[in-house]
Amino acid sequence: MLRYSPTPVQEIHDAVFDKAGVRVLVKREDLNHPYVSGNKWWKLKYNFEEARRSGKKTLLTFGGAYSNHIYSTAAAAHELGFESIGIIRGEETLPLNPTLTFAKSQGMQLHYVSRETYRKKEKDQFIEQLHDRFGDFYLIPEGGTNELAVKGVVEFAQTLGNDFDYLCCAVGTGGTLAGLVRGVSKQKFILGVPVLKGAEFLMDTVRSYAGSENANWALNFNHHFGGYAKSNPALDALIKKCYKENNLPLDPVYTAKLAAGVFDLARGGYFKRGSVILLIHTGGLQVNAVI
Ligand SMILES: *Cc1c(COP(=O)(O)O)cnc(C)c1O
Repeated sequence: MLRYSPTPVQEIHDAVFDKAGVRVLVKREDLNHPYVSGNKWWKLKYNFEEARRSGKKTLLTFGGAYSNHIYSTAAAAHELGFESIGIIRGEETLPLNPTLTFAKSQGMQLHYVSRETYRKKEKDQFIEQLHDRFGDFYLIPEGGTNELAVKGVVEFAQTLGNDFDYLCCAVGTGGTLAGLVRGVSKQKFILGVPVLKGAEFLMDTVRSYAGSENANWALNFNHHFGGYAKSNPALDALIKKCYKENNLPLDPVYTAKLAAGVFDLARGGYFKRGSVILLIHTGGLQVNAVI
């Protein structure tokens, strides 16, 4: 098992929330592990158990050069004594960025493929070629979302208790949101903020993992700030403000966009007065910290 530190819930204060008549809490899951932090810990938990159970010695996964999933998988493999291979989209650029430098330091073997080849990552033929080259491995898909990842997030959701009305999280592939939907009571409303542009396809992904009978969730598509890893001065200012006024560190790729969404929606009267909003801090601070 990966190391795990219990994580606190932190209340944050702002005039916007006072005016909207809501309380906002943050589950600081980013503090659960120094390297396999936030939702990645839970998404990897049962995948590593399955890899061990099935006798695999090597993990193979996919990601972009800035992927938190690559970073976390490399660290988890190192801690648990597995070999790891990262199939990285695009050409190698030197010097390696902090994500890939770290992955390499954890023993991950980095293998670069063209964007065109990368698009075939789910095709049997490409995976066979990877087996020819790298031998036996346990495969974790890009972003780490599969049924075992969702199972881990369901378990996390069940630790959250009952003292909230809305549960909010940043969305990449949708696996985490699906696990939250599946894991909390139907009385709660779960809101996801996608960080990519054109993310409407996520509706189907979440539905397929969470079950179409669950309708107590929504995606808000208005806070991607131009697309994945795109930013602007307003987002940077929000990161600084949250850190300064509430001692809450946020990363610019995921959790700051979640916070931006929650602030905007509170301003617009989206949340029922008197309700408690619980944000999940999914991590991502390790290499992306702005402050
Ligand atoms: C990977 C990641 C997410 C997205 O999780 P999905 O399950 O892919 O939706 C959210 N926040 C952070 C910090 C992440 O690293």
